[in-house]
Amino acid sequence: MIYHQLIVVGGGLAGLRAAIAAKAAGIDVAILSQVHPGRSHSGAAQGGVNGALANHPEGHDDSPQKHAFDTVKGSDYLADQPSALQLTTDAVPAIYDLEHMGCPFSRFDDGRIAQRPFGGAGYPRTCYAADKTGHYMLHTLVEQAYKHEITMYIEWFVMDLIVEDGECKGVVAYNMTRGGFEELRGEAVVMATGGAGRTYSNTTNAVISTGGVAAMAYHAGVPLKDMEFVQFHPTGLYTTHILMTEACRGEGGYLINGEGERFMQRYTPTVMELAPRDITSRSIQQEIDAGRGIDGKDFVYLDLRHLGAELLADRLPGTRDLSIHFEGVDPVFEPIPIQPCQHYSMGGIDTDVNGKTEMPGLYAAGECACVSVHGANRLGGNSLLETIVFGRRAGSAVAGFIQGRTGGGKAAAAAAAGSAAARVRGRIDDIAAREGSEDAYVIRTEMTLTMRYHFGIYREQSVMQQGLDKLLALKERLKKAKLRYTGGVWNVDMIRTAELEGMLDVALATASGALARTESRGSHARTDFETRDDEAWLKHTVSTYQPEGPPKLSYRPVEMGLFEPQERKY
Ligand SMILES: Cc1cc2nc3c(=O)[nH]c(=O)nc-3n(C[C@H](O)[C@H](O)[C@H](O)COP(=O)(O)OP(=O)(O)OC[C@H]3O[C@@H](n4cnc5c(N)ncnc54)[C@H](O)[C@@H]3O)c2cc1C
Repeated sequence: MIYHQLIVVGGGLAGLRAAIAAKAAGIDVAILSQVHPGRSHSGAAQGGVNGALANHPEGHDDSPQKHAFDTVKGSDYLADQPSALQLTTDAVPAIYDLEHMGCPFSRFDDGRIAQRPFGGAGYPRTCYAADKTGHYMLHTLVEQAYKHEITMYIEWFVMDLIVEDGECKGVVAYNMTRGGFEELRGEAVVMATGGAGRTYSNTTNAVISTGGVAAMAYHAGVPLKDMEFVQFHPTGLYTTHILMTEACRGEGGYLINGEGERFMQRYTPTVMELAPRDITSRSIQQEIDAGRGIDGKDFVYLDLRHLGAELLADRLPGTRDLSIHFEGVDPVFEPIPIQPCQHYSMGGIDTDVNGKTEMPGLYAAGECACVSVHGANRLGGNSLLETIVFGRRAGSAVAGFIQGRTGGGKAAAAAAAGSAAARVRGRIDDIAAREGSEDAYVIRTEMTLTMRYHFGIYREQSVMQQGLDKLLALKERLKKAKLRYTGGVWNVDMIRTAELEGMLDVALATASGALARTESRGSHARTDFETRDDEAWLKHTVSTYQPEGPPKLSYRPVEMGLFEPQERKY
């Protein structure tokens, strides 16, 4: 058994920020991550991070209140308004904190942090480091974690939570490089395990963004919130779904259909390509469905040619590289074929603004959590922000929780050790001993295609019902999927099979929430219920896990108080 007062699962931005905050409060912290923290999906973030710094010449009167308004309007009024204001108020010191840690943000000529326009924002308030913002932010925090001597368990894969007497006491993890299951016990756990993009086949997310760990909290009785709200990013590369950042349009890029037309003039004539993502993705899909894709196919062009080689080299160098290497297209000379792709999970583990969940000792932050500040649609640049704001808040809050505890400690943990790892070992042995002909990889592929085609950009009752039935059938089939190999090191077969059950349950929560919600709001666009229905549906969906069948759904009011719901026009 390994003991640390606090176990942080996930070495992305949220996990690192939480760990650094807890360590600063005097807590003994360990980070556990299945990849080196510097390889977390946060490092793939390109476009930038929002904060009302008011540095841009056109943004001198920007403020956290205006940022909160844009966030709430962007969320289609489903965000909890006090939480959104907390996010935007904490944004300014959170970004300066990173600057003081050494994050190399791009700068205006006067030396201040540069800001660019992003979709759905009334002011240019997205701070950036060229188009590699996540990479630079992540490496800044990795350095800080080493500087503060935070212990890291790298290439350890969490298999389950340890819950005793209704409290979270640690995790059981597979040591990928050495083999074997180990209990990591402590007084509390922070989950910062990222999004669940890989439940879809067409995602911009890394292969490790599965939602598998969030499902462990869900299985332990902690509810998931607003899972039906899945963001589709307008511009993923056509063949690989790799992201072309929103900054392409922030810097002035065009969207062009098969007739050579800047079609956004039909949908959002005022802001053109800089509408929020839900609206832009739907507009592209409508062009494709009307046969106006390029050569009638299911993609359109993102055209950056008019921006010129110099601007691309200065502000969008990574985008150009990705497009050349993964699509064979140099954006200086040719338009980029793109298609909307799954990108972000607005829903997640139900938490408050301090990362607290319903279970004592369990906190969550970052994309795996749902506070909720993004509601039904997240604005670009607000999720890097969420990781540093709510990561820090969760780290400080959990430090207070640990310091306020009586009892516990290493001796108590040692006395309780043993049974949790044995339970996980038993579960893996059971999977290996199954009599069954099913293949977990086939089931995974069918799940991701079901999510893509039954719970995509546009949704409709009978299509979703078929999708839900397919997921339930897959859940049954998974009970007959056998492990090929149970032991050793780097047993990826075991990891992928073990996490699939959780992924299916996360997918089922998305499916059930979507089927039940008979309105269109933000990213949840129904062809059979085309308008927003505030009277019936201005409320959060709360999913509670059931071992058999779909989850139990209940609803909770949205916290209002700042802005009255309006029609969303851009
Ligand atoms: C391509 C791309 C570009 C983006 N660009 C932007 C942008 O410009 N602006 C913006 O605001 N947002 C952007 N986003 C969204 C944003 O980057 C993410 O929401 C955010 O970085 C998530 O951070 P996180 O710390 O919550 O999780 P992640 O960075 O995903 O980290 C998750 C961590 O959990 C660990 N983990 C997961 N499962 C396990 C397990 N079983 N055992 C052990 N460890 C585990 C992983 O190893 C990893 O360290 C982008 C997202 C993508 C995919």
